[in-house]
Amino acid sequence: MVADPYAQHEVWFLTGSQGLYGEDTLLQVAEQSQRVAEALDEAGEVPVRVVWKPVLTDAGAIRRTMGEANEDPSCVGVVTWMHTFSPAKMWISGLDALRKPLLHLHTQADAALPWATIDMDFMNLNQAAHGDREYGFVLTRLRMPRTTVAGHVSDPRVRGRVGSWARAAAAATAVRSLKLARFGDNMRDVAVTEGDKVEAEIRFGVSVNTWGVNDLVAVVEAVEDKAVDALVEEYGDLYDLSDGARPDGPQHESVRYQARLEAALRTFLEDGGFGAFTTNFEDLGGLRQLPGLAVQRLMADGYGFGGEGDWKTSVLLRTLKVAGAGLPGGTSFMEDYTYDLTGTPRVLGAHMLEVCPTIAGGRPRVEVHPLSIGGREDPARLVFTAAPGEGVVVGWCDLGDRFRWVANEIDLVEPDEELPNLPVARAVWQPRPDFPTATEGWLTAGGPHHTVLSTQLGADELTDLAEVFGTELVLIDADTTRRSLTKELRWSAAYHRLAQGL
Ligand code: MN
Repeated sequence: MVADPYAQHEVWFLTGSQGLYGEDTLLQVAEQSQRVAEALDEAGEVPVRVVWKPVLTDAGAIRRTMGEANEDPSCVGVVTWMHTFSPAKMWISGLDALRKPLLHLHTQADAALPWATIDMDFMNLNQAAHGDREYGFVLTRLRMPRTTVAGHVSDPRVRGRVGSWARAAAAATAVRSLKLARFGDNMRDVAVTEGDKVEAEIRFGVSVNTWGVNDLVAVVEAVEDKAVDALVEEYGDLYDLSDGARPDGPQHESVRYQARLEAALRTFLEDGGFGAFTTNFEDLGGLRQLPGLAVQRLMADGYGFGGEGDWKTSVLLRTLKVAGAGLPGGTSFMEDYTYDLTGTPRVLGAHMLEVCPTIAGGRPRVEVHPLSIGGREDPARLVFTAAPGEGVVVGWCDLGDRFRWVANEIDLVEPDEELPNLPVARAVWQPRPDFPTATEGWLTAGGPHHTVLSTQLGADELTDLAEVFGTELVLIDADTTRRSLTKELRWSAAYHRLAQGL
């Protein structure tokens, strides 16, 4: 089991002020900022603890606090608010040292202005309206990546955006120390699943390394029968089983073998401290089946996965699993497979086997079928159709000089008919704004065929993540037009070239 990503994590709430207005004012600043931090801490939208820190009024304290934030493993990000006017030069060296995600909260202690009683004391206390402008200038002058949220914390939209940022910050923290195990290399001749692993470690922190698949085979052979028995019993509790897959059925041994694979993969990943992995059907060594059900179960527990050696999609899946933890819906490895081009065109997404049951609409069913490629025994897999609703698909490509994430907002729908002969889990969706605009845009952007599909997350979390990592995000949504996207891709290419420096 991958640990609960939020249990140990917190964001720090930092308030800026200065000594000019006297001790009384600073006491009020402290009281009011504690109230704001508390409201965020208690907000259901914010999944991590929000920890208030003493009001900052000079450069030394700011620098020390930022240094502590960098060093504290439980701190995933920093929220800053300039309650009163905090001359922003005092923030420069602290911000320059900060290595954690930053949120600039532009707010006020109380939503209502007391029109009848307002005096200059009130004005001097409640001046974030210009204090935050002074601070925003310095953030921009420093080219600080950050998320800016404006409004009162009683507004659910404000709390929701702070929550999305906190999710992105926790996901970024998880990726910074992520280790990924690749069993075998890339599927032969495939281009888009390749990429620069050194650059990925520099930019994202993830460490991607290869293991021979027979290292896993040794662990598979060491799995005890009682571990297999326990997993098979769990399958019976959680899923329907086809007649052949049941304990008395002719294909039950295939289910037991996937349970053995699951137990072995868990041991291998836990022992090595891995949060993500890839497999390759062209390189199965001594494995009797391509891992199918086993991979689906591990994805459901929060592990990143990519088929055919696709480590980038595996990293992205782990990232979005962390960002979406605890939210309704699910997040899965996905591949654009085939189309229905009648009426409102739809995409049918699936994979050979490996689709995560967190996106399932109903109770998944364990079935055993031949695999048309790979030349091994028939693998057991979970078969289901994804639940309808709003979602997003995200792909990650390596353009040579930089990484690009391509995302498309989608609406998952029920298939027109039953799919009795399709032996794999699937999702059916309509891309936004419409099929031609979205797919022409995706192809023009060079987006991959492997993606992560999520019904837990949306544009806010993706935008915040892209900002934290300094990675390009091409988002195709309801407002996208062919003309706007063509221009965005050109400007974006120029921007990212310049932003890299020499
Ligand atoms: Mn594939």
